[in-house]
Amino acid sequence: MLLRSHFAIINGNVCETIKLKKSGGGIQKTMKAKAGTSRSIVYLTAAAVTVILMLLYWANSDSASRSQQKIQRESYRLGTIVRITLYGDDSERLNKAIDLSMKEIERLENLLSVNIPSSDVSRLNSASGDHPVKISEETAFLLEKALEWSERTEGAFDPTIGKIVKLWGIGTERAALPDPEELREAVRLTDFRKISIVHKEDGIFVQTGKGQRIDLGGIAKGYVTDKIKELLIKEGVSSALIDLGGNIAVFGDSPKMGKWKLGIQHPFRPRGEYFGIAEVSDVSVVTSGPYERYFESDGVRYHHIFDPATGYPARSDLASVTVIGADSTDADALSTALFVMGFGKSVSFLKDLKNIDAVLVTEKPEGTIAYVTHKLSGSFILKESDMKKEMISQ
Ligand code: FAD
Ligand code: MG
Repeated sequence: MLLRSHFAIINGNVCETIKLKKSGGGIQKTMKAKAGTSRSIVYLTAAAVTVILMLLYWANSDSASRSQQKIQRESYRLGTIVRITLYGDDSERLNKAIDLSMKEIERLENLLSVNIPSSDVSRLNSASGDHPVKISEETAFLLEKALEWSERTEGAFDPTIGKIVKLWGIGTERAALPDPEELREAVRLTDFRKISIVHKEDGIFVQTGKGQRIDLGGIAKGYVTDKIKELLIKEGVSSALIDLGGNIAVFGDSPKMGKWKLGIQHPFRPRGEYFGIAEVSDVSVVTSGPYERYFESDGVRYHHIFDPATGYPARSDLASVTVIGADSTDADALSTALFVMGFGKSVSFLKDLKNIDAVLVTEKPEGTIAYVTHKLSGSFILKESDMKKEMISQ
């Protein structure tokens, strides 16, 4: 399975795009290069990019920051590649912080994954609504957030989508068109209003509706991103880029001592090609799109973002949605929800969200258009000459 981020991290005119392939238990890393380029040349390219980044960095540094170091770690977690990059002058502190971050991701995955039998989510799914299940405060917090977004988006986002997700199996070896009767039943079971969360003295207890299955895949990477950011700040890290496969958060100065430049994946172009750059600081940037996880059957593409009302992959008129905001949990839930809602509803929904920015890509007969919220007008730079940029009136 080929995995990648929705983003390229750009420093000056250098675009560092890393593709990773899961092979057996390990991860292979290759840098994006022209088709047909041999692996050894690919690795040479990687080395060259690193050197250019270093040179740019040194050229822009003042004497006070000459001792700055970059520490980066990658791992296969949460069904994707997680990559954390820290900058600072105390390598011991940075290494400790990155070790703790990787352990924290593992700990949260063990609470939130549908694939780990002992997780809070799996225990809820095993109970299948028969009885209340005691869960951790963190899972309860995230479930409450998910329900809040379900309410606000009138069910476009719904964490009880688990039966539908499981039936389609997208992203797994058994991805296939489900039996229509089973799918109808799964749609009937999808209803966030059936979840009850009770806070008692001896803990927090959750009961789902009978037969329901929870899936936090549309929001949990954002939550983990927020928790890692919190941990890094507590550990005294002042500059970091957290990349959990499509969920990015940055804080502090970029290596070029200014805003971070994030390239956003072109929805119709090969992996690693970006259509525009967001210049950001201290925010999370999250993209959802149908081009990441899908399978094809009889020439039809079936992707992994579902319309809870139909049980089918959402027939959205959006090609991709990028949400930019302070909180990655919110940005993650929203990017999924806006994709399901489609362009018209997303535009009116965004009007009420004062601290959220977005880039909505539509494919129209007149061409592909990137609609950006007003506050982004100066900080989103369209790079793709075949696309137009238009403002969303808020
Ligand atoms: P997003 O748009 O953010 O979310 C899409 C996902 O949300 C879907 O895959 C589905 O799970 C869910 N969803 C779909 N429609 C809706 C809707 N209308 N409302 C609410 N939710 C919806 N993947 C693996 O292959 N193997 C693993 O072992 C694995 N473990 C994971 C563990 C955790 C804790 C998490 C959070 C995810 C895991 N994943 C795993 C899933 C994987 O990384 C997903 O691709 C990812 O969560 C989806 O994120 P996205 O950014 O692609 O899309
Ligand atoms: Mg999401």
